[in-house]
Formats: sequence, C-alpha cells, structure tokens
Amino acid sequence: MTMSTGTLIIGACQTGVQLAASLRELGDTSPISLVGEEPHAPYQRPPLSKELHTGTVDVAALSFRTADWYQRQGISLITGERIVQLERNNDGGVATSVGGRTFRFSRLALATGAAVRRLPLEGAELDGVHYLRDASDARRLAADLATARDVVVIGGGFIGLEVAAGARTTGKRVTVLEAAPRLVGRAVAEETSDYFRAAHQRRGTNVVLDARISRLTGTGGRVAGVELADGTQVRADVVLIGVGVVPRTELAEQLGLAVENGIEVDEHGLCSDGMTVAAGDCASLPNPYARGNGGRVRMESVPHAMEHAKAAAATLLGRREPYRMLPWFWSDQADIKLQIAGLSAGFDETVLRGDPGADKFSLLYYREGRIIAADCVNSAVDFMAVRNALAHGQDIPAAAAADPGARLKQLVVAPAIV
Ligand SMILES: Cc1cc2nc3c(=O)[nH]c(=O)nc-3n(C[C@H](O)[C@H](O)[C@H](O)COP(=O)(O)OP(=O)(O)OC[C@H]3O[C@@H](n4cnc5c(N)ncnc54)[C@H](O)[C@@H]3O)c2cc1C
Repeated sequence: MTMSTGTLIIGACQTGVQLAASLRELGDTSPISLVGEEPHAPYQRPPLSKELHTGTVDVAALSFRTADWYQRQGISLITGERIVQLERNNDGGVATSVGGRTFRFSRLALATGAAVRRLPLEGAELDGVHYLRDASDARRLAADLATARDVVVIGGGFIGLEVAAGARTTGKRVTVLEAAPRLVGRAVAEETSDYFRAAHQRRGTNVVLDARISRLTGTGGRVAGVELADGTQVRADVVLIGVGVVPRTELAEQLGLAVENGIEVDEHGLCSDGMTVAAGDCASLPNPYARGNGGRVRMESVPHAMEHAKAAAATLLGRREPYRMLPWFWSDQADIKLQIAGLSAGFDETVLRGDPGADKFSLLYYREGRIIAADCVNSAVDFMAVRNALAHGQDIPAAAAADPGARLKQLVVAPAIV
C-alpha cells in the first residue's frame, strides 16, 4: 500500500509532534504524515522515570494530543510502523516500513530520537534486567519494581538517579553503581556531583563510585545480584541499566547524510543534503552557547526538542530563522528538583550559593569572568535569573553572586561594549 503525503515526519514523539503542529501553525495546508514505530500515540517521556514508583504507567494520560486533534489538524498519525528504507531526490522520495508500507513524500523530516546504549554484560538477558526509554520499558519496569525489595541501578546519570530516588520513597533497598568517580559527571561539576552522592546517601541509597561490574548473576533465569570485580555481591531483584543513549542515525546514514554524534544539521535544522531537516535528540547542531563543546552539541531535553522542531518546521516552509536557543534542562529526583541553565563545559570558575546540605543551592559556572551556566537545586528563582540573563547575553558578576543574601536577578548587568 502506498500513501502520498506532503511532509513525511519520521519519529512520532516530542520533536515529531511539535514539528507537525508548527507546520500547521505556520500556515502549511499540505498533507502531513507522522510515522512512529511505537504502538502508542505520542506521549511525554519525562514522567516515565519520575512516576514509576506509583506502580502504573498510564500512557493515555501522558499523550501530547487527542486523536481528535490529529484529525482536526489533518495530520495522519501512523503508529506501529518502523521506516527501514529511504530513498530521495530533489523532488521528494519514498519511505518504506518494515511491514512493506510505502510513503511517497515531497518534504522529509527526521525526528528519530535516540535509543538506549546497551551494556555487553554477562547476565544482561536475565529477567528483571531493564533499560528505560519508552512506555513499554516503563510498564515492564514498574511491574517488576512493585514486588522488588532490592533494586540496583547501573549508571548514575539523571534517569538512573530519578528511578533510584523513586524506588527509595517506596522503601526499596537501592544501590547505584557508577563506573566513573562521580555521579552525572558528563553534565555537572564536582560540587554538584558531590551533592547528589550525599543527597542520595542521606535518603538511604547505597552509592558506589568507580564500580567495576563483572557480571549479573541469576537463579532460574531471573536476576539475583550484581557481582563487582573486587568480589562484592550486591543483591538485586531488579536491575535498571541507565548508561546513556545513542542517536538514531540509521536512516540518515542510508541517505548519505553527514553524521557525527547525531545527524549533522546547520543552524536552520537542515541536513547536509540541503533538503532534509532533522531535529531533537537525533541531531547534532551548532549552538552559540556551546563554545566549551567545540561549537556543536547534541541535546537530550524536552525544551530543546520543542524549539528545534519549530525551527525545522519553519525551514521546511522556506523561512530560515537561525536556531539559537539557550540550552536548559530539569531533573526531578523525588524531592530534589534540579534545573540547569546553559552549558557548563569549559568553565574555569564556580560560585556556590546556598547550602547543599539543606538541599537548596545553586552552582554558577564562569568562563573568562562571565557566567555561562548554573545548576540550581530547589532554587527556581536563581534558575530563572540565570536563564534570563544568559538568553539576553547578560552577565551576573561572580563576586556579587557569591553573596547568598543577594538576589541574582538584581545583579544582572548588560555585557560590556568593547
Ligand atoms: C525516562 C526519560 C526521562 C526523561 N526526562 C527528561 C526530563 O526530565 N527533562 C528533559 O528535558 N528531558 C527528559 N528526557 C529527554 C526527553 O524525553 C527527550 O529529549 C525527548 O523525548 C526527545 O524527543 P525526540 O522526539 O527528539 O526523540 P524521542 O523521544 O527519542 O522520539 C523519537 C521517536 O522516533 C521513533 N523512531 C525512531 N526511528 C524510527 C523509524 N525508523 N521509524 C519510525 N519511528 C522511529 C522512536 O521509536 C521514538 O518514538 C527524558 C527521557 C527519558 C527516556
């Protein structure tokens, strides 16, 4: 069966849905097909790791839009179809799904997101060992957690810590095994990592850093523990492996598009062929705030997915506005709310405000005397001040910011004109 469409969007989640909505908001009246491989209508992912301990994963309640909305907007939502083959030329192209369905399109958007990084560990195939990316993963994990006493999280990144925190609130014995010398080391400085270690330990989680895992052990096909290289055995009824994601670039590679830590796009979301757009978790892009990352980043966050999708939609319609959003992100770990503004890579100074011991502080990052980012824990006012200042190219001088009594908003200064 062949379907003809105007714009084909591959990947039906945060980015894909926003792209379709933005095309309509920008006045595009041509047919739009939004194709996703998951069986569910598009839904929000962030609650998957934050609400697991409630025991249920209600995908319908997490849906972005109703079936009615897609119909009213004239957006054909096709779920349960994985595109496996793509061909295109200057006028359009054809996509084929694993089930043999074909989609003829004139414009193409890739919103294929990311997939979990898998660990080649002995025992990883045992029942009770989980990864977490989508609603089906979350449902299986929630069901296993309901009866578990001992939970092991491999990987001390945001998702692992969110699940660990939720499991503790329901009285599980929780161990986090992190291979690096500190938690969330890729995203934050040592001070914030140290805070997370101490905060999770205060809440009763066992945190093991520099963990070297030998294998997962089991009985009767079900996981029973994790064995470390030093011989330590950690009991486990459930193991969650959360060691990051890899961008889904397979279709882009088929088209011969440039790929390097994601599908390479320019500041308009355009791929190297100058026709296809890519946005969200799957794309690597130039960003003015990414000096410390070599000028390009691949972001994994809802705010980015939404804004990048809007820019890509405008590009498809020939309206080229550069995408320059200030990166920001949040993570809720039970009662700990972290908000990050900016990108801290390349910082040369930090300023700590508040008291990590009281679960309320901000760590401000500076490079060459100017603020570039902040990690704010239960400090939404600081977060808003830094986010607004950075987005407007303003500064918050370090010396003044160090005064915990000062309100950051009142310290904001315009950049010096040189
Ligand atoms: C558990 C969890 C918690 C999170 N928490 C937060 C948070 O607190 N704050 C935050 O900012 N961000 C959070 N994120 C990240 C955020 O959800 C992602 O950045 C966002 O979902 C990216 O959207 P996307 O549409 O680009 O990619 P994805 O969400 O990965 O969606 C891509 C979709 O494309 C589909 N697809 C891929 N290839 C094909 C194909 N060939 N054919 C058909 N379909 C295909 C995939 O199945 C998927 O449904 C979290 C993510 C997870 C998994």
